[in-house]
Amino acid sequence: MSERRMLVIGAHSADFVWRAGGAIAVCCAGGGVARVIALSYGERGESGELWKQEGQTVENVKRVRRGEAERAAAALGASFDSLDLGDYPLEIDADALIRVSEVIREFAPDVLITHTDTDPFNPDHPVAHAAVARARSLAAGAGVQSAFKTVTPPELFLFEPHQPELCNFTPTTFVDITAVIDQKVAAMSEMKAQQYLQTYYRERADHRGNHARRSSGNSEIRQAEAFQRATPQVVSAL
Ligand SMILES: [Zn+2]
Repeated sequence: MSERRMLVIGAHSADFVWRAGGAIAVCCAGGGVARVIALSYGERGESGELWKQEGQTVENVKRVRRGEAERAAAALGASFDSLDLGDYPLEIDADALIRVSEVIREFAPDVLITHTDTDPFNPDHPVAHAAVARARSLAAGAGVQSAFKTVTPPELFLFEPHQPELCNFTPTTFVDITAVIDQKVAAMSEMKAQQYLQTYYRERADHRGNHARRSSGNSEIRQAEAFQRATPQVVSAL
């Protein structure tokens, strides 16, 4: 696999770490390029530990969250940036939609990863899904000549939500992250505002590793991440 370009767009600054950290590390270890974009820092809704500190401010939480996400992305071999659109609620207006589509157009990814379309526990994740799916179409056009510059349509994958059964998530793809699990653990450990998730996602990697072994017959797989493919896979033969 040569120079695979992976773009991960999450609603909040830490989403990529739990849900796609291993896939990002695998991409980069294989000579690919990965970029992470957070639509917001998750400063209000996903920074629980930081809000326990007296005198805490939104600006300081954003600063801390940015630092965490940059270090986590670096541990995986990726770059990180945030559009800082605000969270709880994340709102995508026309300008924001154009910014997201510009990110896709400029980076021209082979693979694009974002949230599922449903999440009864989080008001921002489905908003991010809708924005990314729409921005992808704006960046890629309808697969034919358009009045604007378009990129080759990236393959769209959805990463695993916290409670998949309730989020319209069915795994279609497992990524073997055995070789990079230490990198994922290191990246997760940077997310000090959400320490409660680190054990959960370390265990999840083992569970999905079990499922990946069963699906593939490859007994070497120890840890995996699950994804749902949202666009058809085009192959030259089955
Ligand atoms: Zn989130």
